[in-house]
Amino acid sequence: MTFKVSSRRQEKVHKFISKDSSFRVSTVVATHVVDEMRSILNTYPIATVALGRSMIGCLLMAAHQKEGHSVGLYFRGSGPLGLIFAEGTYDGACRAYTANPQLELPPRNGLLDISGAVGHGLLEVVRGVSYANQLHSGTVIIKSGEIAEDIAFYLQQSQQIPAVVAAGVEIDQYGLVRGAGGLLVELFPGAKDNVIEKIEASVKSAGSLSKLVSGGGTAEDIVHEFIKGFDLEKLPHDYSIRYECRCSNEKVKNALLLLGPDELQSMVQDNEDIEASCDFCGRIYVIPLAEVRELQQESHKRSLN
Ligand SMILES: [Zn+2]
Repeated sequence: MTFKVSSRRQEKVHKFISKDSSFRVSTVVATHVVDEMRSILNTYPIATVALGRSMIGCLLMAAHQKEGHSVGLYFRGSGPLGLIFAEGTYDGACRAYTANPQLELPPRNGLLDISGAVGHGLLEVVRGVSYANQLHSGTVIIKSGEIAEDIAFYLQQSQQIPAVVAAGVEIDQYGLVRGAGGLLVELFPGAKDNVIEKIEASVKSAGSLSKLVSGGGTAEDIVHEFIKGFDLEKLPHDYSIRYECRCSNEKVKNALLLLGPDELQSMVQDNEDIEASCDFCGRIYVIPLAEVRELQQESHKRSLN
């Protein structure tokens, strides 16, 4: 029997800073995490790519926040994919949701039509500490619907941070994720004007990020291939990325309470336990009838206050 360290556990966000302190970079290979999302949510290629790019964007942004902080992206576009939500935390947990995971569209110019699936509308970015209710949100228009470009536009418009974002997800002929990864470059205030142009030119000439990671490229390879002509220093950030949900029995019961006394009353009258499944991870929760009754009474009491 032979053993090897699972590559899944080695997927991490890598962080770098330019030695002249003009910008910072984060890169990630997220192939296993995006494929795990695909398998849990049973997404078809369009949703796999749109959600995968969004998850990569969240992870890259969240790694630059503080311990305990998260970044959530809400794409509210007019396209047939409907709402896209993705969330990543500083320490590498991420999850995603879309209203229409099995959307299929005809290809555009031979490629998956991600921007057509997302459509026009608004991108809201929520950052901060979710459990402490210390969240800040900013909203911009969806610029292209290609996800990475939209994140860069948000950083520029809402945070006044000139940024370059690349996120790629390559799907194989069976709809599985062959490679997924991304790059985020954020300029610091006071960086020279030509730095962003130089970075943009370097990223453009590097070619396809999803091809690089599909071919076995690492997070280190991404930074070396995409950011040429700068001296970089690696920053410590030792957290494995993973698909992880924060759902719990308690949260399901809170969601039931929010339905209100009338809806709960009709559930009680059905005389059966309530089964709920989490939209993010598919976990099944069973709330026994007796507890649904208690929730109904609680909800009724609240409605009288
Ligand atoms: Zn869940």
